[in-house]
Amino acid sequence: MRIIVAGGSIAGLSSALVLARAGHEIVLVERDHVEVNGTSAPAAFEWRRDGIPHFQQPHALLPRGRLLMLQELPDVYRQLLDAGALEYDCSRIIPGPSQPEDKELIALAVRRPLIEWALRRAIAREPRVEVFEATRITGFAGRPGTIPHIDGVRTARGAEIRGDAVVEALGRTSPAPMWIEELAGMPPAIDSSSCGLIYYSRYFRVGGPLPDGPWLVCFGPRVDLGYAMFSTFTGDNRTFAIVFGIPNRDAELRILKRERAFMAACAEMPALRPWMELTDAEPITPVMPMGALENSIRSYEPGGHLCATGLFPAGDAICHTDPAFGLGLSFALIHAVEIRRALARDPSEPQALVRSYFSRIWPEICERYLSCRDLDNARDQAWNGAKLDFSRPTGCYPMFVAVAGGAVSLQDGEVCRKWLRRATLLDRLSVFDDDLELQRRVESQFAKLLKSGAPRPEQGPDRETLLARVGQA
Ligand SMILES: Cc1cc2nc3c(=O)[nH]c(=O)nc-3n(C[C@H](O)[C@H](O)[C@H](O)COP(=O)(O)OP(=O)(O)OC[C@H]3O[C@@H](n4cnc5c(N)ncnc54)[C@H](O)[C@@H]3O)c2cc1C
Repeated sequence: MRIIVAGGSIAGLSSALVLARAGHEIVLVERDHVEVNGTSAPAAFEWRRDGIPHFQQPHALLPRGRLLMLQELPDVYRQLLDAGALEYDCSRIIPGPSQPEDKELIALAVRRPLIEWALRRAIAREPRVEVFEATRITGFAGRPGTIPHIDGVRTARGAEIRGDAVVEALGRTSPAPMWIEELAGMPPAIDSSSCGLIYYSRYFRVGGPLPDGPWLVCFGPRVDLGYAMFSTFTGDNRTFAIVFGIPNRDAELRILKRERAFMAACAEMPALRPWMELTDAEPITPVMPMGALENSIRSYEPGGHLCATGLFPAGDAICHTDPAFGLGLSFALIHAVEIRRALARDPSEPQALVRSYFSRIWPEICERYLSCRDLDNARDQAWNGAKLDFSRPTGCYPMFVAVAGGAVSLQDGEVCRKWLRRATLLDRLSVFDDDLELQRRVESQFAKLLKSGAPRPEQGPDRETLLARVGQA
């Protein structure tokens, strides 16, 4: 088939590659233009990518996405390792003997632009992919109707690029719903809720090794301060990033967008001390804000009615979640592979093709959307003063998994393994969520932990103290 891929970021680039390698002819259309030939991997970090506001924001590739990349695009994976990406073994903190499946628990520490760089390099070598860059898409082309058939895109220069199907990978602000309506179709049903957070991040580079510790998933300390949070990301080539997440409603804490206040806040956090004491740590970005973030999902079969045929929305264009959960890159890869599977079916049944795609991706994006939304809402309530019971599964379940499950993981091998596999997309949520015996264990061990009065690691100053100290910076 001839497939138009709309959007050339992680979802579009990986779909284009996976589909071209399955024998399809691909036309990739992207509004930005970047020069990949002759660009070194680290130089990709400086690319100007107006279409991706989060281009330089800290990212990590979770084990599910890393595993898929290794299986489906091994050359891209190898290129990333050669360019300085690091394999990070999340299983090393699991107490007790290792299990065969632990070898899946490897994440990739790499800055996002490098992933795009490696995908683009592979695309440049792929004879079945034609690329139109600096080309803004302004609508879909196809046969109008109550279920329009979409087989192309219209561009700002007035051209139509037609094929047999369209992969829509235009990111979380994609105007696809409006474009479907222009072809007399019904727009997808959208469910969304604010993440409630603004992120402030900054990348650093060091000359030597980075600190190490018993961290769950994100290659560095991640701490909930009870009114805000922070986390740390290891990147490629001796880079790391620190991210603060503050509630949208807290205007005073927005002071952290100022460089001096940000650095002063880092210095106040005991868990960040080893990172702040890296005397050769040199900032390589300013403090980068990121707000207006949502958990959001689009259903293209609302009430069983198909919105369009020929259209395969992928990546953030169909579902995006709070970046703190790090799911987006993995979903982009999952969707690329599932589009290939769907397109392997009989093309004379266009409804069956898209329905088969949605039936394979929907259960997973839907459960993750709900779980991210519920945890964000619970955290927001807790930061706003609500007393939530996170000590038992019948209390606030999202917080029980995050807080009690996380704490018990550091002492119980089975809990840790299942908790990590849940957090890194390797398992469906039901593996943990339906295991009542495991949850009882978490509950009782967490109760013992609380009773033991074991000293908890120092988290950081309270909000007023932090504000006073960063205000002086
Ligand atoms: C702050 C932050 C941190 C994150 N951290 C992580 C993480 O650690 N791990 C993780 O897995 N995920 C993370 N994510 C999520 C991840 O970045 C996204 O899921 C991912 O970028 C989605 O890729 P995409 O290709 O679907 O969309 P995008 O990356 O948004 O790309 C959309 C593409 O479409 C192009 N485009 C848009 N409109 C048009 C048009 N009209 N015509 C032509 N082209 C157009 C854009 O230029 C762009 O290239 C994070 C997100 C944010 C915001």
